[in-house]
Amino acid sequence: MKILVKAPNWLGDAVMSLPALQALREMQPDARLGVLTRRALADLYRAAIADEILPYDGALSAVKIAREGRWDAALILPRSFASALMIFGARIPRRIGYRGEGRSFMLTDAIPRARSLLRTHRVHYYHHLLKALGEPPAPKPPRLRLPPEAVAWALDRMGDAEWIGINPGATYGKAKQWYPERFIETARRLKRRAVVVGGPAEADLGARVAGEIEGALNLAGRTDLLQLAAVIARCRLFITNDTGPMHVADAVGTPIVAVFGPTDPVTTPPFGERHTLVRRDLECSPCLKRECPLGHHECMKRIGVDDVVRACERWLT
Ligand code: SF4
Repeated sequence: MKILVKAPNWLGDAVMSLPALQALREMQPDARLGVLTRRALADLYRAAIADEILPYDGALSAVKIAREGRWDAALILPRSFASALMIFGARIPRRIGYRGEGRSFMLTDAIPRARSLLRTHRVHYYHHLLKALGEPPAPKPPRLRLPPEAVAWALDRMGDAEWIGINPGATYGKAKQWYPERFIETARRLKRRAVVVGGPAEADLGARVAGEIEGALNLAGRTDLLQLAAVIARCRLFITNDTGPMHVADAVGTPIVAVFGPTDPVTTPPFGERHTLVRRDLECSPCLKRECPLGHHECMKRIGVDDVVRACERWLT
Protein backbone atom coordinates (compact mmCIF):
# COMPACT_ATOMS: atom_id res chain seq x y z
CA MET A 1 0.00 0.00 0.00
CA LYS A 2 1.39 3.41 -0.96
CA ILE A 3 -0.36 6.41 0.57
CA LEU A 4 0.31 9.97 -0.48
CA VAL A 5 -0.63 12.90 1.76
CA LYS A 6 -1.25 16.25 0.08
CA ALA A 7 0.11 18.67 2.66
CA PRO A 8 -1.30 22.08 3.60
CA ASN A 9 0.44 25.16 2.21
CA TRP A 10 1.09 27.24 5.33
CA LEU A 11 3.74 26.53 7.95
CA GLY A 12 1.34 26.51 10.91
CA ASP A 13 -1.10 24.17 9.14
CA ALA A 14 1.79 21.94 8.13
CA VAL A 15 2.87 21.56 11.77
CA MET A 16 -0.74 20.87 12.75
CA SER A 17 -0.88 18.11 10.11
CA LEU A 18 2.00 16.17 11.73
CA PRO A 19 -0.19 14.36 14.30
CA ALA A 20 -2.30 12.96 11.44
CA LEU A 21 0.83 11.68 9.72
CA GLN A 22 2.04 10.09 12.94
CA ALA A 23 -1.34 8.42 13.46
CA LEU A 24 -1.37 7.23 9.85
CA ARG A 25 2.05 5.66 10.36
CA GLU A 26 0.70 3.80 13.41
CA MET A 27 -2.39 2.65 11.52
CA GLN A 28 -0.45 1.46 8.48
CA PRO A 29 3.00 0.42 9.74
CA ASP A 30 3.84 -1.42 6.52
CA ALA A 31 2.56 1.20 4.10
CA ARG A 32 4.89 3.53 2.22
CA LEU A 33 3.97 7.11 3.16
CA GLY A 34 4.71 10.07 0.92
CA VAL A 35 4.05 13.76 1.39
CA LEU A 36 3.33 16.05 -1.54
CA THR A 37 4.31 19.51 -0.33
CA ARG A 38 5.32 22.97 -1.42
CA ARG A 39 9.11 23.00 -1.63
CA ALA A 40 9.35 25.59 1.16
CA LEU A 41 7.88 23.12 3.66
CA ALA A 42 9.73 19.98 2.52
CA ASP A 43 12.34 20.14 5.31
CA LEU A 44 9.63 20.25 7.94
CA TYR A 45 8.19 16.95 6.74
CA ARG A 46 11.69 15.50 6.39
CA ALA A 47 12.19 16.22 10.09
CA ALA A 48 8.88 14.59 10.96
CA ILE A 49 7.64 11.34 9.60
CA ALA A 50 7.42 10.20 6.01
CA ASP A 51 9.23 7.75 3.78
CA GLU A 52 9.22 9.97 0.76
CA ILE A 53 8.96 13.74 0.38
CA LEU A 54 7.72 15.05 -2.95
CA PRO A 55 8.40 18.79 -3.12
CA TYR A 56 6.78 20.75 -5.93
CA ASP A 57 7.03 24.30 -7.23
CA GLY A 58 3.68 24.67 -9.00
CA ALA A 59 0.41 22.82 -9.60
CA LEU A 60 1.54 21.24 -12.87
CA SER A 61 4.75 19.89 -11.39
CA ALA A 62 2.73 18.56 -8.43
CA VAL A 63 0.48 16.55 -10.76
CA LYS A 64 3.46 15.15 -12.67
CA ILE A 65 5.40 14.19 -9.54
CA ALA A 66 2.36 12.63 -7.86
CA ARG A 67 1.47 10.65 -11.00
CA GLU A 68 4.97 9.18 -11.35
CA GLY A 69 4.83 7.68 -7.85
CA ARG A 70 1.98 5.26 -8.63
CA TRP A 71 0.29 5.80 -5.27
CA ASP A 72 -2.68 3.65 -4.23
CA ALA A 73 -4.45 6.26 -2.15
CA ALA A 74 -4.18 9.95 -1.34
CA LEU A 75 -5.28 11.89 1.69
CA ILE A 76 -5.97 15.50 0.71
CA LEU A 77 -5.58 17.65 3.82
CA PRO A 78 -6.23 21.16 2.45
CA ARG A 79 -9.81 21.96 1.61
CA SER A 80 -9.01 23.79 -1.63
CA PHE A 81 -10.24 22.88 -5.09
CA ALA A 82 -6.65 23.09 -6.38
CA SER A 83 -5.33 20.38 -4.06
CA ALA A 84 -8.09 17.96 -5.06
CA LEU A 85 -7.38 18.76 -8.71
CA MET A 86 -3.68 17.89 -8.29
CA ILE A 87 -4.51 14.46 -6.91
CA PHE A 88 -7.30 13.85 -9.43
CA GLY A 89 -4.92 14.86 -12.24
CA ALA A 90 -2.33 12.44 -10.86
CA ARG A 91 -4.86 9.59 -11.37
CA ILE A 92 -4.44 8.19 -7.87
CA PRO A 93 -7.16 5.53 -7.58
CA ARG A 94 -8.42 6.39 -4.08
CA ARG A 95 -8.78 10.08 -3.24
CA ILE A 96 -9.87 10.99 0.28
CA GLY A 97 -10.76 14.54 1.25
CA TYR A 98 -13.46 16.76 2.66
CA ARG A 99 -16.38 17.50 0.39
CA GLY A 100 -17.20 21.07 -0.52
CA GLU A 101 -15.50 23.78 -2.57
CA GLY A 102 -17.08 22.18 -5.69
CA ARG A 103 -14.55 19.36 -5.62
CA SER A 104 -16.54 16.32 -4.47
CA PHE A 105 -16.67 14.89 -8.02
CA MET A 106 -12.87 14.52 -7.91
CA LEU A 107 -12.91 12.48 -4.68
CA THR A 108 -13.65 8.77 -4.25
CA ASP A 109 -14.18 9.33 -0.50
CA ALA A 110 -15.85 12.72 -0.09
CA ILE A 111 -16.00 13.09 3.69
CA PRO A 112 -18.77 15.32 5.10
CA ARG A 113 -17.48 18.34 6.95
CA ALA A 114 -19.79 18.66 9.93
CA ARG A 115 -20.14 22.11 11.48
CA SER A 116 -18.81 20.71 14.77
CA LEU A 117 -15.64 19.60 12.99
CA LEU A 118 -14.99 23.16 11.85
CA ARG A 119 -15.13 24.20 15.52
CA THR A 120 -12.46 21.74 16.67
CA HIS A 121 -8.72 22.17 16.71
CA ARG A 122 -7.16 21.97 13.24
CA VAL A 123 -5.22 18.90 14.42
CA HIS A 124 -8.51 17.06 14.92
CA TYR A 125 -9.83 18.35 11.62
CA TYR A 126 -6.94 16.75 9.70
CA HIS A 127 -6.93 13.64 11.88
CA HIS A 128 -10.64 12.98 11.26
CA LEU A 129 -9.93 12.24 7.58
CA LEU A 130 -7.98 9.13 8.61
CA LYS A 131 -11.27 7.46 9.54
CA ALA A 132 -11.72 6.69 5.86
CA LEU A 133 -8.86 4.20 6.30
CA GLY A 134 -9.85 2.63 9.65
CA GLU A 135 -9.90 3.62 13.30
CA PRO A 136 -6.96 5.96 13.97
CA PRO A 137 -5.20 6.22 17.33
CA ALA A 138 -5.80 9.51 19.19
CA PRO A 139 -3.63 12.35 17.87
CA LYS A 140 -0.45 13.15 19.79
CA PRO A 141 1.09 16.63 19.90
CA PRO A 142 3.31 17.42 16.89
CA ARG A 143 7.01 16.66 17.24
CA LEU A 144 10.00 17.56 15.08
CA ARG A 145 13.29 15.69 15.12
CA LEU A 146 15.90 18.35 14.56
CA PRO A 147 18.85 17.37 12.38
CA PRO A 148 22.27 17.70 14.08
CA GLU A 149 23.41 20.38 11.59
CA ALA A 150 20.53 22.67 12.55
CA VAL A 151 21.14 22.07 16.27
CA ALA A 152 24.86 22.88 15.82
CA TRP A 153 24.01 26.00 13.80
CA ALA A 154 21.84 27.35 16.62
CA LEU A 155 24.34 26.41 19.31
CA ASP A 156 27.07 28.21 17.43
CA ARG A 157 25.10 31.47 17.46
CA MET A 158 23.43 31.23 20.84
CA GLY A 159 25.80 29.24 23.06
CA ASP A 160 24.40 28.08 26.38
CA ALA A 161 22.85 31.39 27.51
CA GLU A 162 19.20 31.54 28.56
CA TRP A 163 17.16 33.11 25.77
CA ILE A 164 13.68 34.31 25.16
CA GLY A 165 12.49 34.17 21.56
CA ILE A 166 10.58 37.10 20.09
CA ASN A 167 8.51 36.69 16.93
CA PRO A 168 6.99 40.10 16.12
CA GLY A 169 5.84 39.43 12.53
CA ALA A 170 2.76 37.78 11.08
CA THR A 171 2.97 36.75 7.45
CA TYR A 172 -0.76 36.20 7.03
CA GLY A 173 -1.79 39.79 7.72
CA LYS A 174 -1.46 42.95 9.76
CA ALA A 175 -4.46 42.21 11.95
CA LYS A 176 -2.65 39.26 13.56
CA GLN A 177 0.28 41.44 14.52
CA TRP A 178 0.72 42.85 18.02
CA TYR A 179 2.70 46.08 18.03
CA PRO A 180 6.51 45.96 17.59
CA GLU A 181 7.04 48.59 20.30
CA ARG A 182 5.09 46.41 22.74
CA PHE A 183 7.24 43.39 21.91
CA ILE A 184 10.30 45.59 22.53
CA GLU A 185 8.97 46.82 25.88
CA THR A 186 8.05 43.27 26.91
CA ALA A 187 11.55 42.00 26.14
CA ARG A 188 13.14 44.91 28.03
CA ARG A 189 11.04 44.24 31.09
CA LEU A 190 11.81 40.54 31.14
CA LYS A 191 15.53 41.33 31.32
CA ARG A 192 16.61 38.18 29.47
CA ARG A 193 18.70 37.84 26.35
CA ALA A 194 16.35 38.03 23.38
CA VAL A 195 16.63 36.42 20.00
CA VAL A 196 14.35 37.90 17.34
CA VAL A 197 13.11 35.56 14.60
CA GLY A 198 10.89 35.78 11.55
CA GLY A 199 10.68 34.90 7.87
CA PRO A 200 12.51 36.61 5.00
CA ALA A 201 9.68 39.14 4.58
CA GLU A 202 10.17 40.16 8.23
CA ALA A 203 13.90 40.86 8.08
CA ASP A 204 13.48 44.66 8.37
CA LEU A 205 10.97 44.37 11.19
CA GLY A 206 13.26 41.93 13.00
CA ALA A 207 16.24 44.26 12.64
CA ARG A 208 14.21 47.18 13.98
CA VAL A 209 12.91 45.24 16.98
CA ALA A 210 16.30 43.67 17.80
CA GLY A 211 17.99 47.06 17.44
CA GLU A 212 15.84 48.42 20.27
CA ILE A 213 16.55 45.60 22.74
CA GLU A 214 19.93 45.68 24.42
CA GLY A 215 22.04 42.62 23.61
CA ALA A 216 19.43 41.11 21.29
CA LEU A 217 20.39 38.74 18.52
CA ASN A 218 18.59 39.28 15.24
CA LEU A 219 18.01 36.13 13.22
CA ALA A 220 14.84 37.28 11.41
CA GLY A 221 15.13 36.26 7.77
CA ARG A 222 18.49 34.63 8.44
CA THR A 223 17.49 31.03 9.10
CA ASP A 224 16.07 28.21 7.08
CA LEU A 225 13.10 26.37 8.50
CA LEU A 226 15.00 23.81 10.58
CA GLN A 227 17.53 26.37 11.82
CA LEU A 228 14.54 28.44 12.96
CA ALA A 229 13.17 25.39 14.79
CA ALA A 230 16.57 24.76 16.40
CA VAL A 231 16.81 28.41 17.52
CA ILE A 232 13.34 28.24 19.07
CA ALA A 233 14.23 24.93 20.74
CA ARG A 234 17.09 26.71 22.57
CA CYS A 235 14.72 29.35 24.01
CA ARG A 236 13.30 29.10 27.50
CA LEU A 237 10.16 30.89 26.29
CA PHE A 238 8.80 31.98 22.91
CA ILE A 239 6.71 35.17 22.69
CA THR A 240 4.80 35.37 19.46
CA ASN A 241 1.83 36.33 17.36
CA ASP A 242 -0.43 33.54 16.09
CA THR A 243 1.88 32.35 13.30
CA GLY A 244 3.71 29.37 11.83
CA PRO A 245 6.72 29.77 14.16
CA MET A 246 4.31 29.55 17.12
CA HIS A 247 3.40 26.03 15.98
CA VAL A 248 7.07 25.23 15.40
CA ALA A 249 7.70 26.17 19.05
CA ASP A 250 4.92 23.75 20.00
CA ALA A 251 6.60 21.00 17.97
CA VAL A 252 10.00 21.50 19.65
CA GLY A 253 8.54 21.71 23.17
CA THR A 254 9.33 25.37 23.98
CA PRO A 255 6.75 27.11 26.21
CA ILE A 256 4.78 29.75 24.34
CA VAL A 257 3.11 33.05 25.18
CA ALA A 258 0.96 33.86 22.15
CA VAL A 259 -0.89 37.10 21.50
CA PHE A 260 -4.19 36.33 19.78
CA GLY A 261 -6.22 39.09 18.12
CA PRO A 262 -8.59 38.26 15.26
CA THR A 263 -7.69 34.57 15.09
CA ASP A 264 -9.50 31.65 16.61
CA PRO A 265 -8.40 30.42 20.05
CA VAL A 266 -10.27 27.13 19.53
CA THR A 267 -9.12 25.98 16.10
CA THR A 268 -5.52 27.18 15.82
CA PRO A 269 -3.81 27.56 19.22
CA PRO A 270 -0.73 25.40 19.91
CA PHE A 271 -1.92 21.80 20.32
CA GLY A 272 0.39 20.97 23.24
CA GLU A 273 -0.16 22.02 26.85
CA ARG A 274 2.78 24.36 27.34
CA HIS A 275 1.31 27.67 26.26
CA THR A 276 -0.58 30.74 27.43
CA LEU A 277 -2.84 32.69 25.07
CA VAL A 278 -3.20 36.40 25.75
CA ARG A 279 -6.38 37.77 24.17
CA ARG A 280 -9.42 39.97 24.64
CA ASP A 281 -12.84 38.48 24.13
CA LEU A 282 -14.58 41.11 22.01
CA GLU A 283 -17.93 40.78 20.32
CA CYS A 284 -16.24 41.02 16.92
CA SER A 285 -13.56 38.39 17.62
CA PRO A 286 -12.46 36.11 16.17
CA CYS A 287 -13.11 37.78 12.78
CA LEU A 288 -10.27 35.87 11.01
CA LYS A 289 -9.58 38.87 8.77
CA ARG A 290 -6.17 39.97 7.48
CA GLU A 291 -7.00 43.63 8.12
CA CYS A 292 -9.38 44.91 10.79
CA PRO A 293 -12.73 45.41 8.99
CA LEU A 294 -13.78 47.89 11.70
CA GLY A 295 -10.59 49.89 11.31
CA HIS A 296 -9.76 50.05 15.04
CA HIS A 297 -7.88 46.82 15.82
CA GLU A 298 -9.18 46.85 19.39
CA CYS A 299 -8.50 43.12 19.82
CA MET A 300 -4.78 43.94 19.78
CA LYS A 301 -4.84 47.47 21.15
CA ARG A 302 -6.42 46.25 24.38
CA ILE A 303 -3.59 43.80 25.04
CA GLY A 304 -1.04 45.70 27.07
CA VAL A 305 2.60 44.99 27.81
CA ASP A 306 1.59 44.24 31.44
CA ASP A 307 -0.70 41.42 30.26
CA VAL A 308 2.04 39.76 28.23
CA VAL A 309 4.78 40.26 30.83
CA ARG A 310 2.53 38.68 33.47
CA ALA A 311 1.92 35.67 31.23
CA CYS A 312 5.66 35.35 30.53
CA GLU A 313 6.62 35.54 34.19
CA ARG A 314 4.48 32.52 34.94
CA TRP A 315 6.72 30.47 32.62
CA LEU A 316 10.00 32.06 33.68
CA THR A 317 9.73 31.71 37.45
S1 SF4 B 1 -12.94 43.17 13.79
FE1 SF4 B 1 -12.47 42.82 15.93
S2 SF4 B 1 -11.40 40.87 15.96
FE2 SF4 B 1 -11.35 41.61 13.86
S3 SF4 B 1 -9.42 42.71 13.70
FE3 SF4 B 1 -10.99 44.21 14.22
S4 SF4 B 1 -10.97 44.37 16.45
FE4 SF4 B 1 -9.86 42.50 15.87
